[in-house]
Amino acid sequence: MAAPMRLKSTLAVVTGGGSGIGRAICQRLSQEGASVAVVDVNIDSANETLQSLSRGVPGQDHVVLTADVSRSDSVLAVMEQIQSRFSAPPRVAVNSAGITRDEFLLRLSEESFDSVLSVNLKGPFLITQAVARSIVSSGQNGGSIINIGSIVGKVGNLGQANYAASKAGVEGLTKTAAKELAKFGIRCNTVLPGFIATPMTDKVPQKVLDKISGMIPLGRLGQPEDIADVCAFLASDDSKYITGTSIEVTGGLYL
Ligand code: NAP
Repeated sequence: MAAPMRLKSTLAVVTGGGSGIGRAICQRLSQEGASVAVVDVNIDSANETLQSLSRGVPGQDHVVLTADVSRSDSVLAVMEQIQSRFSAPPRVAVNSAGITRDEFLLRLSEESFDSVLSVNLKGPFLITQAVARSIVSSGQNGGSIINIGSIVGKVGNLGQANYAASKAGVEGLTKTAAKELAKFGIRCNTVLPGFIATPMTDKVPQKVLDKISGMIPLGRLGQPEDIADVCAFLASDDSKYITGTSIEVTGGLYL
């Protein structure tokens, strides 16, 4: 079935757009008519995403921007490049860049804790702040910020103290941003994926994935497109009365 065209004339910035869930989100938003700024640390994979984007709507224009979302100078540079290319702020921002550095708590290094918090939590903070500032200073209110959290942030997971803490933080950040930014018409929501088949989960041993699949009521791991469907809804006016919430996309998994 063809995607609806809910995002014509909408500029979207998607971090982590070079891989997995972020790539599927870029593709889905472009299918709905959005122009997409694909942001990633990995220029090659981001360019692969760029090649796969839809260009069916007149004026649709996509760009790749390399950035480390954990660095404020890098995020600032992204915003400047977007401003000079599109002469308008993004109306949609999706924070999908994320990393894991799994280790049991008793052995978890400070460096692994800090790096996961920097990318997974500070990154969404920097992007949310930068995008919101650009919308507010443009004088044209309205926007949708979508942060990719994780079901693990709600329930914890063995070997993921750093990751679970970062994702729980993303929900707190998003709920607070929703309260502060509502007066500018900017909605902020979190999507909580369960276990999705991407390069990130490729690192998980197959026997663990098989065990997890057996626990999922819908009987399979999720696909990146399952998350992209929800992000497209949250990006569009179909969700115009939804802010400050978290949507679980887990196939019914409750750990
Ligand atoms: P992925 O395939 O590894 O994609 C993540 C992308 O983010 C990669 O292209 C990665 O580049 C990029 N990235 C990493 N650090 C970055 C940085 N500092 N600045 C900019 N980009 C950076 O992972 P995924 O599975 O699609 O995950 C996407 C999001 O969903 C993450 O936030 C993840 O925590 C969340 N999530 C995933 C699952 C799942 O089961 N897959 C479940 C719950 C939540 P490199 O490849 O070069 O590192």
